[in-house]
Amino acid sequence: MTNRLLNDKSFPYCPGCGHGLILKALDAAFQALDLDPLNAVIVSDIGCCGLIDALVNSHTVHGLHGRSTALAQGIAMAAAGSGKKVIAVLGDGGASIGLQHILTAARWNVEMLVILHNNMVYGMTGGQRSALSPPNLRADGGPQPLDVCALAAAAGAQRVIRRFADDDLTAAFIELLKTRGCSLIEVLETCPSHGLRKYPELRQAAVYPPIDAVGSFPIFTPGVRQTPSLLDEIPAVPSKFTSSLQRQLQVTVAGSAGEGVQSAGEIAALAAMRCGLEVQKRGEYPITVGNGFSLVHLTFSPQPICYADALDPDIILAVSEEGWKKVKSRIRPGARLLADAELQIEQGGMEQPAFRRVGGAKGAALAALVYWGERTKIIPFEAFNAAVSSHRLGKILQPLLEKSRGAWFGDA
Ligand code: SF4
Repeated sequence: MTNRLLNDKSFPYCPGCGHGLILKALDAAFQALDLDPLNAVIVSDIGCCGLIDALVNSHTVHGLHGRSTALAQGIAMAAAGSGKKVIAVLGDGGASIGLQHILTAARWNVEMLVILHNNMVYGMTGGQRSALSPPNLRADGGPQPLDVCALAAAAGAQRVIRRFADDDLTAAFIELLKTRGCSLIEVLETCPSHGLRKYPELRQAAVYPPIDAVGSFPIFTPGVRQTPSLLDEIPAVPSKFTSSLQRQLQVTVAGSAGEGVQSAGEIAALAAMRCGLEVQKRGEYPITVGNGFSLVHLTFSPQPICYADALDPDIILAVSEEGWKKVKSRIRPGARLLADAELQIEQGGMEQPAFRRVGGAKGAALAALVYWGERTKIIPFEAFNAAVSSHRLGKILQPLLEKSRGAWFGDA
């Protein structure tokens, strides 16, 4: 076991950035307390301080801007009593966006540490003012900065302190890592590249008053779960069929929204499980759900799937023009393409079965998966049949499946 939080990568920060001082002090605190970094989860979000993921030997989670505290709170609540150290890292931009999450973590007083890197600007995006910027950054003045420390203390955090980056942060971290309940440290620092360059006023005395508050609110303790796990409600999928698959394989079905692509993927996943395969399924579609392309990425494997990268599929089943446009740049050498007969594609050695004519717009994806699965014997037709029979959409999908059987393999 190492008690070094930091790995040997060099910091990606600009010269003079305070983020490195904070990380070094946190590392020193881990060593002083002999903490195992693998017993820690560091949750970050967008901003230069969010570059921490690659620099530490601990578990890391990276979230949306301003959401690291919310993610960390969920992890801390789930891990309560396990001894795991959960640390949320965010900047003043993230704190501006996600202030409610900080107050909620404080109010619940969940055992976690929030490290607020306050360089008083959005550093990564060029020095825009945040809600924690002092008023003198505007020529016409501006509102007083949010005092996140005071707010967190009022909301119920167990321990809240404010320090400068060149203070003895190691001592502060040692104390906070031993604190039960929610603790927050706001470290005042500078962003030389965008903060100081853009606003020389930041060199003047900070407007933030010192704070060192100890809370007296109840500390979160995990309750006994009264409801069964949702996983308990999912019946096990019986394995009754055999598959010819020998190695992990990634299949992408590329179609259009509203044409049953995701449902077809679900059926194929269930059918594969009925053949004893491990499966991972992931959907990909535009934010305007219901319009445009719809892709389903399926990873099948006879062994446990440890990592799946569906952007690099082995097999592409293109069933609509929109789907084809989306995936055509992803075809790597050696990948196999099966495209609907109606698609105008100039590529030698490619099969073009009539997926849309057989399945119709709503059944083309299923027809393509059945065609590929049965022909390769990776997912035999019987497995599709069993998956459809027990599926909630079985009544709708069964006729589509029968059409595929008739077209591809005869009605017998
Ligand atoms: S842009 Fe600013 S906050 Fe980001 S690394 Fe550089 S100095 Fe630090």
